[in-house]
Amino acid sequence: MSLTNFRMETDGDGVAVFTFDMPDASMNVISESVITDLEAIAKTIAEDDAIKGAVLTSGKKAFCAGADLKSVFGGIEGAGAEKTGDERKQMIYEAAGRLNNTLRAIETCGKPVAAAINGLALGGGLEITLACHYRVAAEGAQLGVPETQVGLFPGGGGTQRIPRLIGAMDALQMMAQGRPVDANWAQQKGLIHEVAPAAEVVDRAKAWIKSGPEAKQPWDQDKFKIPGGGPYHPAGMQVFGGAPAMMRRETMGNYPAIRYMLSCVYEGLQVPMDAAIRIETRYFAKLLMRPESHNMIRSIFVSKQELDKGGRRPAGQSRGDIKKIGVIGAGFMGAGVANVASKAGVEVVLIDRSQEDADRGKAHIEKDLSKRVAKGRMAQEKADAQLALVTATTDYSKLSDVDLVVEAVFEDRDVKAAVFKQIDEHLPAGAVLGSNTSTLPISSLAESAKNPEDFIGVHFFSPVEKMLLVELIVGDKTSDHAISRAIDFVGKIKKTPIVVSDTRGFYANRCVMRFMEQGMSMLSEGYKPALIENGARMAGMPVGPLTLQDEVAIDLGYRVLQATKRDLGADYVETPVDPIITRMYELERLGRKNGKGFYAYSEDGTKRLWHELDQFAVNGVLEDQPDVSVVQDRIRYAQAIEAARCMEEGIVQDPREADVGSILGWGFAPFTGGVLSFIDTIGAKDFVARADELKAEFGAPFEVPQLLRDMAAKGDTFYARFGAKQSEAA
Ligand code: NAD
Repeated sequence: MSLTNFRMETDGDGVAVFTFDMPDASMNVISESVITDLEAIAKTIAEDDAIKGAVLTSGKKAFCAGADLKSVFGGIEGAGAEKTGDERKQMIYEAAGRLNNTLRAIETCGKPVAAAINGLALGGGLEITLACHYRVAAEGAQLGVPETQVGLFPGGGGTQRIPRLIGAMDALQMMAQGRPVDANWAQQKGLIHEVAPAAEVVDRAKAWIKSGPEAKQPWDQDKFKIPGGGPYHPAGMQVFGGAPAMMRRETMGNYPAIRYMLSCVYEGLQVPMDAAIRIETRYFAKLLMRPESHNMIRSIFVSKQELDKGGRRPAGQSRGDIKKIGVIGAGFMGAGVANVASKAGVEVVLIDRSQEDADRGKAHIEKDLSKRVAKGRMAQEKADAQLALVTATTDYSKLSDVDLVVEAVFEDRDVKAAVFKQIDEHLPAGAVLGSNTSTLPISSLAESAKNPEDFIGVHFFSPVEKMLLVELIVGDKTSDHAISRAIDFVGKIKKTPIVVSDTRGFYANRCVMRFMEQGMSMLSEGYKPALIENGARMAGMPVGPLTLQDEVAIDLGYRVLQATKRDLGADYVETPVDPIITRMYELERLGRKNGKGFYAYSEDGTKRLWHELDQFAVNGVLEDQPDVSVVQDRIRYAQAIEAARCMEEGIVQDPREADVGSILGWGFAPFTGGVLSFIDTIGAKDFVARADELKAEFGAPFEVPQLLRDMAAKGDTFYARFGAKQSEAA
């Protein structure tokens, strides 16, 4: 037998150890060739009389990270694209069933098979071990099924074996949340049998085989009972009564992966394993053909990974390290940037106007670290080491050896210009000056810097610790070197960079403004606030537009409005939003920060919509409220049209960045795969037709750019038309 990804060694007692060790890879993943190997392994164990039992383990630090999603994605894109209907379905069903049938062959091979899980086992990696009769995992190993995060479900038998091992309730939670569990928890629940030091897992697995166990899974034995009961058991019935409602509340029915996963468990637990596996494979094949899984894998996994690896690094620039940075302004954003940078091992000079202000920024980091230590997520020494990397000071000369500076002082052009002057006195040659401004155009700010070519926008989102996107804004003179170093920095702090051009609001804020504007427009047209807020969540947004406006603060909205009016002068066009924001500002309803905005906030942490919002309905609250689908369309279309306009204007140039940016930056309905995938999936022609209807009814925000009309005429998609912007590092 020749294996590509496994080594085989049989000891004197006839125990064959198969060591998963993919050549030229740091991590094991499940690919076509791995499945081919597993088929051969299942056959060998069953047929070779010299083998009494087998152990599956890994030669790498982790056991296996799961399916190679890039190839799954390629498979979906390519799978029988030339075939149609049932033929394509059959082909995908057979491909999806290959791993499932192989794993079933392993567990029914008639000889004992144990998994020695020496480290992390995720997705299909964990599912391989679940098809073994015994599992021993290394202390601290993380085990999980994160598939739902990218629009899939555990389709390698996970939906059947996990509930049969730990009960439907825990299984559904584990699969829906996708968060890995610790080996000890897994043992307590019965997902694995034993926890041992990493160095001993293979010996323990061998010892189990040599104890002469029965080579049968619990579910293949007579009188097997599902822990906690199946669907027709009184306790099980409670789970299956509540779970669909709970999942619907979380997903609003937008994620077919969750729905199918639930069906797999419900239907599969009522039949023997072979039929259960067929049920799972059918749902999995059906899921693979849905646009949601295709789009989610593409944006959340494939594109994000490409961007994280520096996919948009300009040609000719090479990757470098960032060891030390300066952060100017130790306020809300600056302290957050210093926190994530020091967490990544970067030395930080944190400067503010006074020592007291700088110390306050450092205290924010200390507080965050203490919380993590108290929760047991971090060792005290590690926290101390991180804090020691941060120097809070007022002394700009400490910037003499930094690689990059992030300026995060007040949003005031003059204040920033004065700060740039002080930075420039000490900034070493080749170091990059980044501004975290959210509204000031980068090219004009760069004029106040000594070297505009080293100047770039580095736009973080709040809260910095949580938000994964950083928008890099390229000014007229920004050099490729500056872009490349900024990408180095964003990569170092484990966030995702997108590179955009200079415009008011850049990319993300421009689109998200349309979201909040629609919320307020609907309010002025007499839609009930609850309809607006719930409609937005049903459209897939994480929160409603009024909630979001409260979070970002209404005074900020007011100031942006004043600045825009000032800058545009006679060109400014009044919108229905202006009187609402102005009135709320005058009433000092500033949002969550002062406990009153579109919502009224109670001290116990609860909130409810402010009962006087009806005053904003210009012609009174509508007697006949519109269907929720109108709210959903208005919210999604307004944002997608703005994103398309950003593509037309070249503000974003790569569909991957537009999509990934929309999901990570402002939470645009992740199941769509992002703003442009949303349009591509509907099709430009149908999208434009619906947008034209919305424009006829609701006006200018639904005016589509010419680009979309051209695409509609040609039947183009964004991905086909613009492709992924290639660069050397991609
Ligand atoms: P903030 O008021 O919390 O912090 C600003 C800090 O800058 C304060 O600590 C202040 O003392 C300091 N500062 C002011 N003048 C200074 C000077 N001359 N020298 C040194 N330090 C000085 O403000 P913030 O919310 O952290 O915003 C900072 C920047 O980040 C702004 O440009 C803002 O537009 C941008 N931004 C904010 C958000 C957000 O959600 N708050 C999001 C993205 C970008």
